[in-house]
Amino acid sequence: MALSSIAGQRRAVGFLKRVLEKETVPHAFLFSGMAGSGKLAAALEFARALNCLSPRDHDACGSCGSCHKLEEGLHPDVVHVKSDGASIKVEQIRELVKRFRFRPFEGKFRVVIIHDAHKMMELAANAILKILEEPPEANIFILLTLESQMLLPTIVSRCCQVRFQPLDDRIVAQWLVSQKGLLAPSAEAIARLAEGSLEKAGWFCGQDQTEGWKKVVERLESLATLSILDLFPMVSDWAKGRETVERDLEFIKLWVRDLILYRVAGARSPAEGTAGNGPALTFELHGKTREAAGSVPAEHLFILYQRVELAMQGLKVNANLQMCLEGLCLAIKDLLYGKGHWNSFSKRGQAL
Ligand SMILES: [Zn+2]
Repeated sequence: MALSSIAGQRRAVGFLKRVLEKETVPHAFLFSGMAGSGKLAAALEFARALNCLSPRDHDACGSCGSCHKLEEGLHPDVVHVKSDGASIKVEQIRELVKRFRFRPFEGKFRVVIIHDAHKMMELAANAILKILEEPPEANIFILLTLESQMLLPTIVSRCCQVRFQPLDDRIVAQWLVSQKGLLAPSAEAIARLAEGSLEKAGWFCGQDQTEGWKKVVERLESLATLSILDLFPMVSDWAKGRETVERDLEFIKLWVRDLILYRVAGARSPAEGTAGNGPALTFELHGKTREAAGSVPAEHLFILYQRVELAMQGLKVNANLQMCLEGLCLAIKDLLYGKGHWNSFSKRGQAL
């Protein structure tokens, strides 16, 4: 791997490559962008190019001793500062300063990577500021953060700013196929959920998430036959964790999107793969859901999509979790499965 192999960050990588072509390298950089957009990978590749023993086209060769050590995480001149608990503490910066008494051990530069720089406590931030004001020779600092506004303006003004964009869905999907072994339709679906973050994409394709995903679909499909009296306890059980429900709403949005694609574009099921033309669905549509999606007026599905978005916005402003889910489940029951499926008797009631 080399700096030029960082995917989807052409501007940021182009800037860093131009820096490497120059005689002098600025002493501090601020890499900002969402988690999982490639900031750390770029910082490591930049460090590798800076210390490479036989650079090619101003980039790391990937085969010299220095490149190998860095790849294995064993390079003595690449120093990571990470939060200790919830924050980066001043003691950690004091420890760092002790290293500056010595020149880099092996490389031309010591590269200090400060992860989640916004987690620096006030004293730590002031200590870093002092270092950046009088930078020790042959040391390069790379601060990683989500948003530059999260840092002291005095720190930001002393760094070269490099912004990382959310990754294109296509790049996230390719990564899921090559690194996680997913099939293309699933990778494309997860890429849409990940909103440009490899970290989020990796999280979504974890085993727990796949199970969660299946459970959401089961619950949605159960609405076709669930009586109104059974719907409320089901939702009450579902609405136990805000974070889980927020994630589930992402799945619901994707599911409704599938219904629309099936209804208006004749989309194929995921099992049919990528063969042929037209879009593939993310989820398999079964029984009553498939039937309903094929016959319900398309406008109902568009309204449903808006309802999911409204529920998502509601949760962001702290709306009542249970009410949000109840409203949405009732809307699905009404708009998708139709009023004919209303049944005021609970299954338990019928059994008695
Ligand atoms: Zn090299």
